[in-house]
Amino acid sequence: MTPRLLPLVERAVKGPVFGCRMCGRCVLHSTGLTCPMTCPKTLRNGPCGGVREDGGCEVVPGMRCVWLAAYERSRRLPRGRREEFAEVRPPVDERLRGTSSWHNLITGRDRETPAGWGA
Ligand code: SF4
Repeated sequence: MTPRLLPLVERAVKGPVFGCRMCGRCVLHSTGLTCPMTCPKTLRNGPCGGVREDGGCEVVPGMRCVWLAAYERSRRLPRGRREEFAEVRPPVDERLRGTSSWHNLITGRDRETPAGWGA
């Protein structure tokens, strides 16, 4: 499959299943298969300080906090995977937006960071 086709296939597969927004660097493995880009703040680490007492989102009324769902789902993962939830995920690299995370994983592009991110 050519790199040009991969984003189309990835969007078609992961969009309906995970609500994938094609950020280009997939972290589903560490979020209990919950896409963090569906958080209205697109936080890569959460929940934020605004989650309501009932677990609701402060931005979208009636929406359950994506990060609470991520935490709960991550508890069901096997040992070794479960612990990855606590790892600090880097912010979204906007240069990868719209590209295939599968391709970026294979090529290592998702491990390249903009200057200054290593600090
Ligand atoms: S983390 Fe990125 S690549 Fe993974 S499902 Fe969410 S938007 Fe798609």
